[in-house]
Amino acid sequence: MVGNAGTLTGLLRGLLATLAMLAALLAVLPVQAAALAGDWRKAVPGEDPEGVRHADSGFAPFDTTRLTSFPRNPDGVWVRLRPVSGAWPEAGEVLVVRGPDFERVTFFPSSDRPYSRSLHDLDPTAEPAGHGRLHFALDPPPADGEALLLRFEPQPVLAAGVTFAIVPRADYLREEARWLAVASACFAIMLAMALVAAFSSLVLRDVSFLYYAGYVLSYAAIQALQCGYAFHPLGFASIAAAPWNWGRILTGLSVLLATLFLDRFASLGRFVPRLRKAVLALGWATFLVAASGYLPGEWPLRITRALINPLLMAGSLVLLFASLRAFLHGGLYAGVFLLGWTPLLLLVLLGSAQTFGVLSDVLWIEDGTMVAGASEALILSLGLAARSQAVRRDRDQARRLAELDPLTAVLNRRAWTEHMQVLLEKQRTIGGPLALLFLDLDHFKSLNDNFGHQAGDGALRVLVRLLRQELPGDSLIGRYGGEEFVIALPRASWQTLMAIAERVRIALEACRVRVDATGAVLTVSIGLAISRSGESIAELVERADRALYQAKSEGRNRVVVAG
Ligand code: GH3
Ligand code: MG
Ligand code: MG
Repeated sequence: MVGNAGTLTGLLRGLLATLAMLAALLAVLPVQAAALAGDWRKAVPGEDPEGVRHADSGFAPFDTTRLTSFPRNPDGVWVRLRPVSGAWPEAGEVLVVRGPDFERVTFFPSSDRPYSRSLHDLDPTAEPAGHGRLHFALDPPPADGEALLLRFEPQPVLAAGVTFAIVPRADYLREEARWLAVASACFAIMLAMALVAAFSSLVLRDVSFLYYAGYVLSYAAIQALQCGYAFHPLGFASIAAAPWNWGRILTGLSVLLATLFLDRFASLGRFVPRLRKAVLALGWATFLVAASGYLPGEWPLRITRALINPLLMAGSLVLLFASLRAFLHGGLYAGVFLLGWTPLLLLVLLGSAQTFGVLSDVLWIEDGTMVAGASEALILSLGLAARSQAVRRDRDQARRLAELDPLTAVLNRRAWTEHMQVLLEKQRTIGGPLALLFLDLDHFKSLNDNFGHQAGDGALRVLVRLLRQELPGDSLIGRYGGEEFVIALPRASWQTLMAIAERVRIALEACRVRVDATGAVLTVSIGLAISRSGESIAELVERADRALYQAKSEGRNRVVVAG
């Protein structure tokens, strides 16, 4: 696909090394967290937080280190946290709530007023929440034996799985800075690749590149919204008001664009026509289900919430399966898609599965989908580059074929005239004349009549082979009509032209191609003209044709120079 397989392998290796480095930066997080015990219960209206903090019953314990989704409740959910050791750490620690997505969390310090935070706050006076984590300063730390109290506020979105940890503030900030560096690299890669694809789409007039650009952009936007990157550090205030609305339509759009892209890029119609229908149906279904969540009333949104994750999971599986089948049936680009998309789709699949409460101890999936998004953008851009090269190659070949006479493989009349125009102008600027030979086979009709059309075709090929042998390499040979050929020769004198024309004439006669039963052989008559200044191609051809006519009337099998 890419001209040089070695280059491709080298590129892939470099790419994998880059991604491994990004992933490693995220994985090695030197955070020492104090072990926390947690319990929760649904809130009811009018409760006193201090009563809740010290209540002895009604709470259910949960594991703070595993992803836990609290059920949605009109009055929110209370969460209490205590150090397992019994003693709170010294000052300078922060409580980190990881993975809240669109949840809003209120923190109730025992000695201060409660305050609430979400990843999508743009309060310039508050410390920014970052990279999918909320943090609450424990200054001063609670009294020993006393619980930290939080309330998860009611939200019109799917409850996200969260974990809780108490870490030194310096560790938290270090981790945050490192995450921002990796995230910025990933988003920059996705944005750059989307722009490259969009420009390619304009230049190559291939809409699949545009689907790809749209897909990468919507995927990057979902990621940026979900982890809060769009708000901190980017600070996009206008979308902060209702971020989940954007998330829903972007999810539908990204799936639809991904399926449209795969369909064209991997030629599903050619390799797996029946699976193609399933892929496109799932793409449109996901988009329509996501979009119908915006309809008025409560039911559309409920249906969207119930269906979107199963659709995402089914879509991921079908996309993987279709590209695998297409690849096994010989689809090269399906292989590129598979290479780029498998890690991402698997992570999307696992992430969707997590919303059903499984894999709750796997915490890296959300960050992983961001790195996988960047990796997929890079790998597919390699595929797009290979594809644009193939498109260009096909186009060049089609153009070449359209210029040639299929029987003899010399230029056809139209192409010869075009090339001749260029040649004439070039000769004019360097000041030299252009010579023209006009050839017509003698008694060709009787060859056809006596030995059949096939024999006639063979004779035409013989003549062209002789022309290629006897003429200088820079001659422009064209088939002007049935058994008429034109040849342009730059920089030739009368003497050399005559010599060349005679050589062709004698060589054909020497081939002894019979034209009838009497033993007469095939010969050629040639008219010869040299361009005059300011003369057009038509005028030059006309003079050579007249010389040819003279050769015919003088008895054929001869060369005549235009007067
Ligand atoms: P002259 O010596 O005056 O040129 O006579 P001629 O028979 O060569 O000329 P004429 O124009 O009467 O006949 C040309 C023939 O060439 C008629 C046509 O059937 C034949 N012809 C044209 N194109 C092809 C072709 O591609 N293949 C074959 N086999 N014959 C062709
Ligand atoms: Mg003729
Ligand atoms: Mg003829």
